[in-house]
Amino acid sequence: MKTIFKKLAWFIKEEWKIYVLMLFLLLSISFISLLPAKALGLAIDTIVLGGLNRTSMLWLVGVLIALPLGRYFLSFAYNYIITKEAQKLAFKLRRRYLDHLFEMDSNFYEAYPKGDLISRVTNDLDAITTAATSMLEGLIFNTSVIVLAILLMGFTISWKLTAIAVTIMPIALTGLNVIRNRKRKYVKKHREIYAEFTDKVLESVEGMKVIRAYVQEENDLKRQYEAIDKDIESWRYIVRYENWFNPLFEIVYGVTYFLAFAYGAFLVIQQEITVGELVTFLAYVGTLYGPIVSIAGFFTQLNNAQVSIDRFEEIMSTAPEVKDEAASQPILAFNRIDFKNVTFKYPFDKAPVIKNIDFSIEKGQTIGIVGPTGAGKSTLIRQLLREFNVTDGEIAIDGVSIGKYKIHDVRALVGYVPQAHMLFKKGVDENIMIGNPRAGLADLDKAVKNADFEKDVIYLTEGLHTQVGEAGSTLSGGQKQRLSIARALIKDPEILILDDSLSAVDATTEENIIARLRETRGGKTNIIISHRFSAIRDADLILVLEAGKITQRGKHEDLLRQGGWYKDQFIQQITMR
Ligand code: ADP
Repeated sequence: MKTIFKKLAWFIKEEWKIYVLMLFLLLSISFISLLPAKALGLAIDTIVLGGLNRTSMLWLVGVLIALPLGRYFLSFAYNYIITKEAQKLAFKLRRRYLDHLFEMDSNFYEAYPKGDLISRVTNDLDAITTAATSMLEGLIFNTSVIVLAILLMGFTISWKLTAIAVTIMPIALTGLNVIRNRKRKYVKKHREIYAEFTDKVLESVEGMKVIRAYVQEENDLKRQYEAIDKDIESWRYIVRYENWFNPLFEIVYGVTYFLAFAYGAFLVIQQEITVGELVTFLAYVGTLYGPIVSIAGFFTQLNNAQVSIDRFEEIMSTAPEVKDEAASQPILAFNRIDFKNVTFKYPFDKAPVIKNIDFSIEKGQTIGIVGPTGAGKSTLIRQLLREFNVTDGEIAIDGVSIGKYKIHDVRALVGYVPQAHMLFKKGVDENIMIGNPRAGLADLDKAVKNADFEKDVIYLTEGLHTQVGEAGSTLSGGQKQRLSIARALIKDPEILILDDSLSAVDATTEENIIARLRETRGGKTNIIISHRFSAIRDADLILVLEAGKITQRGKHEDLLRQGGWYKDQFIQQITMR
């Protein structure tokens, strides 16, 4: 509990005035809850002593109506405030979480599956918010009712009777603690299994088209059922422990009530207490039951929240490896980029994907990169996006290591068109403007034209305003590619990277795009990865990458003269036409 309190202390500090108000409300509610028992006892004693008359009767009825009413209004106010606070906390935690996710680098996204990240901000966050906001009620209200009831029982009725009635409570609380500690590990496991389940559902929904195309519904459902079964199975362990709570408290209550009644009756006979006092006492014992059960439930909640907060904090305390330092330099333009003996290995791979890469890019050049699939072309060029730190060697921009510049500035230099297009469920124009939200209509038209996307727009029902389906589902492969190219072009970046971005367009479209690049990007740098030689044959420098190493370099004619992979593939491509 201390950890949760510590982890959420910032929120309580921000909202301390409201917390003080809630504390006051809760203490008032707990005090009012105990008064009807007192009133009832007094009434019985008045009746027994024959002192009941109209006035005292009216007083009694008045008090018995006023108390629940007062309690109702106070509870209403409390619930209203606490619900608002819960929302506030949930929003703040969500914002912190999302801010953090945006700071994280690719290492992090390699380590955590999407479903897991989602379950931490939904399921886990819910558990934290519920526990944090019911902490006051669970702890303050219930404890204060218990303490007040015991004090009233002792001071106003009999300490002896109170001592006998509550003897069993510490035993029950110890039992509760043991169960709680044992249960925690099952809750942790359950959360992990739930995260796995979320991930599987997400994968199935995303892959529905493929699942249907290959008639894999049954297999996929089987996979889902297995995940659900695993989830249920893990929950069953928790339920088993939870089932101990209620019977335990039934027993505590039963024994307490029996002891109170038996010894209380004895004290009445001994004339140490009155009948009215015994009734009040038993009513207090009854009042104790609710808070004790609630405290048990509250500890369960707290337990779950403890596991959740650990999972939440695990993400929040992960620092990105690729991050800005205080001394990071700004950069707006460049003249030269040098790859010096660069080797890179993905975080969860054993062997490097690119090895000892040495080459230079001069501002204004067009660089072509070719090579077999899987050779490491994307990996090589994505180093300019600062997704990961290089494992060995150095990339220098104008003589300064790329890691010394502000990450944002380095990325701002680059317009990257990836192999897998990421389109968002919004208008075609909005999807393009992501490249440069400040661009005007003229820029938009220019980008559309230069990406040779104009001819597609005619076929879109609402032109550029047409809504794109989820992940671009309403567009063809070629249209998606051209839209992505337009997105990069509207940024008018210093370095444009086309990562096999012309694979789904026909030869004429490719020619058009390449020709426009040449016309419009004078003085700017282009890096083109392509399987088609026509896209790169005019490049200032062509690199051939095989198994992570540069095996050939030069201009088109040089490479043809050299022989090797380039010449073989080129001949194959032109003879296949
Ligand atoms: P190319 O662009 O030449 O087709 P890639 O750079 O995409 O090649 O991939 C090179 C190698 O790196 C491949 O073997 C691929 O499986 C591996 N690879 C790509 N991305 C990752 C990743 N995120 N984690 C681990 N390995 C990866």
